[in-house]
Parts: sequence; C-alpha cells; structure tokens
Amino acid sequence: MVKISPVEELFTIINETALIIQEEIACTFLEALAETGENLFQEAVLQEEISELNKKRLEKLYDQVQLNKYQNEEIRKALQLVILKGMRESVQANHQMTPDAVGMLISHLLNKLVTDHSFTLLDPAVGTGNLLTTVMNYLQPKEIGAIGVDVDDLLIRLSYVNANLQQHPIEFFNQDSLEPLYVDPVDVVICDLPVGYYPNDVRASQYELAAIQGHSYSHHLFIEQSIKHTKDGGYLFFMIPNGLFESEQAAKLHGFLKEKVIIQGLLQLPLTMFKTKQSAKSILILQKKGEHVVPPKQALLVNLPSISKVKSIENILSQIDDWVKENKK
Ligand code: SAM
Repeated sequence: MVKISPVEELFTIINETALIIQEEIACTFLEALAETGENLFQEAVLQEEISELNKKRLEKLYDQVQLNKYQNEEIRKALQLVILKGMRESVQANHQMTPDAVGMLISHLLNKLVTDHSFTLLDPAVGTGNLLTTVMNYLQPKEIGAIGVDVDDLLIRLSYVNANLQQHPIEFFNQDSLEPLYVDPVDVVICDLPVGYYPNDVRASQYELAAIQGHSYSHHLFIEQSIKHTKDGGYLFFMIPNGLFESEQAAKLHGFLKEKVIIQGLLQLPLTMFKTKQSAKSILILQKKGEHVVPPKQALLVNLPSISKVKSIENILSQIDDWVKENKK
C-alpha cells in the first residue's frame, strides 16, 4: 500500500471539501477554501445552502481529520498547496504568497537579532498569512503577539483560517495599511512589500515619501508606515524589489532611511527563485534608531546561492551567525 504524507493527506481533504462547497454555493475555489477551512476549525458544516447529501459527504471527510495529529508546518504546507492551486485561477501577481525560503531566512535572522522570549510582530501586508505563520512556526516556543493587516478581504480570510488551524493567536485588520493603523508600536515588522503605485494621492500626500508629482510608490509608503509603527530599536525585515534604490524616487527614500533607521543588512535572493531578473527581490534588514542603538561595524551584505545548493546555504547561515556575533555583542 502506498503511504501518503501528512501534508498530502490534509491537502486531499481540504481540496475535496473545497470543491464540493464551490460546486454547491457557486463561488470561486479560494472562497470555498476559506469556507472549508472555517468548517474544519469549527468542526461543523456552517453553510446553510449546502444540501443534506453534500453535508453528509463533507462531514464524512472532516471526520477523517484530527487536527492535533498534525504539526503546524504540515498544516501550513497543505493549505499553501491548496491556495497555490486556487491562485492559479484568479489572483494577481502582486498578491503572491511569500516563498518558504524567505520565511525561513527571516526567522533565522530574527532569532539571532531579537533575543527576547516575547515580542510583538506586525505584518502590514499579511496576504494569506504564509510568511507570518512560517516565521511564527520557526520561532516556536517564543511568545509572539502577532498582528496581520491586509486590504484584500479574501486573502485575509485565508490568513485567518491559516492562523486558526495552526492555533496562532493573530489579531487581524482588514484595511488599507496606508490609512491610519490603530496598532501600538511593535518590536518587529516583517513584510513582503506590495510593489507598485498607490492610487490614493490624497492619502499619500500625508507621507514624507510621497512623490512630488503623480502617484507615489506603495512600497515606499509601506516602508515609512512600518517604521512609524516600530518601537525605537525595533527591527524591520522587508522583501524588496532589487531596483528599490535605483528608481527616480530613490534619493528621497535614501534620505528618509538615513534619518530614521540603520541599515543592518541586505540579502539578495537567488535569481533562480524568480521568473525574470526584473522581478527578483532581496531582504532588507533595518533597525529603527533609538537610545542604545549602534550601527554595525559593517552591514551584512550577502548574495544568496541557489536554494538547491545545501552546502552553500549552510555557509551563508554560518556567515550570518558570525556577522551577528561580531556586530551585535
Ligand atoms: N506575505 C504574504 C503571504 O505570504 O501571503 C504575501 C504578501 S503579497 C506580496 C502583498 C500583499 O499586500 C497582498 O496580500 C495585497 O493584498 C496586500 N496589499 C497591497 N496593498 C495594500 C494596502 N494598501 N494595504 C494593505 N494591504 C495591501
């Protein structure tokens, strides 16, 4: 008999139940996925429009799942696979889930740089919650007060399902993160920045990084908003486009960063991770200025090798650890 992995087992049930719901309530696959995730969590079929026959089919499938039998990472990966399947149908490029390798790398850096057992963490573009829950899983057993914000109501519903099924107590806000955010300053921000123009010029004009003419860059405003919501001395980890410091608006961004933060590091992700050179990204590590914050002797500058080269990755991780020892005593 072929033995299937826990991730495949969960994937199959979540996928099959989402398909049943999609057919019955005529919605998109991703909407059906959010519904089935909620059913699994509540241990009930919550949709009133489901026929008795399909309700029984769903209940039989849900009965096969004992959530506490699975590791958080198995639940996250199963959901990630079903979400990827649904995204092939409909979601735009800017809404893509953050790759696992990025979440793991940020967790490694965060673990080295933030040594407190408990801290607060904000992701202002939380999307499906893949990045945020990857980081929370890798940082267990730390106590993390997490907050996720996203303007897209379907993606934030998927985030909510992700958090519930993995039992992460995350506080969610479904809003434009560039409008006023009613959250206290946090210790750490992580964000896979949405890249492009922000359409609301009136709101943008409230930001120091607003464009002098025309639309402002959303990713610049996100950086400013994130810094504003970080405590003095707190850290920020951004997934940024490689051309961030080369655009016509880069000079203003440079000046702003110089005044508010210390650039701790820049890690260029392997080009093989991206479809085109233009869409390639890096991880930018910042620390907000504060009373006892000192700049590193040297910023951490790394070109990451292809993820498949295990030995090179190990070398890079130990290079990161040496840099932390040297610069963050
Ligand atoms: N880290 C996420 C994940 O793992 O699923 C993916 C983030 S995706 C690259 C960028 C996200 O920014 C999208 O979910 C999009 O809906 C969100 N976004 C774009 N503009 C926004 C805004 N003004 N306010 C809040 N969220 C926004």
